[in-house]
Amino acid sequence: MPDTTTAHSPRTLSEALDLLAERRAALRVIAGGTDVMVLLNARILEDREFLDIWRIDELRGITDEGDALRIGALTTYTQLISSPLVRCWIPSLVAASRTIGAIQIQNRGTLGGNIVNASPAGDSLPALAAYDAELEIGSARGTRQVAFNQFYTGYRRTVLEPDELVLAVRIPKLAEGERDFFRKVGTRRAQAISKTVMAARARVREGLIESISIGVGSVAPTVIRTRATERLLVGARLTTEVVEQARECIANEIRPITDLRSTEHYRRTVSSNVLARFLRQLQADSSM
Ligand SMILES: Cc1cc2nc3c(=O)[nH]c(=O)nc-3n(C[C@H](O)[C@H](O)[C@H](O)COP(=O)(O)OP(=O)(O)OC[C@H]3O[C@@H](n4cnc5c(N)ncnc54)[C@H](O)[C@@H]3O)c2cc1C
Repeated sequence: MPDTTTAHSPRTLSEALDLLAERRAALRVIAGGTDVMVLLNARILEDREFLDIWRIDELRGITDEGDALRIGALTTYTQLISSPLVRCWIPSLVAASRTIGAIQIQNRGTLGGNIVNASPAGDSLPALAAYDAELEIGSARGTRQVAFNQFYTGYRRTVLEPDELVLAVRIPKLAEGERDFFRKVGTRRAQAISKTVMAARARVREGLIESISIGVGSVAPTVIRTRATERLLVGARLTTEVVEQARECIANEIRPITDLRSTEHYRRTVSSNVLARFLRQLQADSSM
């Protein structure tokens, strides 16, 4: 392995995409570096040539597009937390951001990095799944849109090509009358990797669930939407019996493993408890 390390730090997106087109697999993209530096430090990565995208301001910013927010890939958790737009329209993304690392990581870690790092425990990912986010992906060949829920093809695998960058995430806003929910369960309140992490949104009218979407992390090789549980709940009346059925359904639907952070049994039990908590909140709100 050569001893020298090269870092390219372009200031424009087109410069970065040209470098990626030229060097392709030889280049490791680095955004905030909070995942990459850990791997480098542990000597897990052998990369010697980096594309540092931190200075590309085109990849920053949160814009209101009417029915959705467009969030640049380099947007940090601190920026998400302090954005009135994100707080108002995608509250579970703000709640998730508050649980990520501590202040230092929130200042440096980016939404794009969390997405491409592709950990099933990435805490922003359940919100993106529940909100049916769309990714804007760019290369020197052009730009394409990919549904977030189709971005992962397996454990730590994505549809991203070596010459592509995630440019931005487009997230539909919480609709009128919808409720939003986020819950992360870890060993501690901060600096903890999730044992299970859930984001959901739902609309209830006159005691009936009109729509519900549930994203869960740390319970399968990738973040998932629990579609069978959603199907069970849509159109159902929010009764104690339905809450129990949903609890059982999600426990069977997820595919957790036992690892050093938790057991399969714990993850199934706690994920179903977390969903039951959301459903009871909806029940209480709709009876007011
Ligand atoms: C102490 C500590 C605590 C942490 N706590 C949490 C936590 O609680 N929850 C959590 O989810 N994560 C946590 N993390 C992980 C990390 O902070 C997040 O995943 C963060 O969002 C990564 O963003 P980054 O910009 O630093 O990514 P980087 O490390 O720069 O990159 C991560 C990966 O994404 C690729 N990449 C980055 N941006 C792009 C892009 N725009 N296009 C294409 N590829 C790209 C890189 O090549 C790399 O493979 C923690 C990390 C540390 C060190």
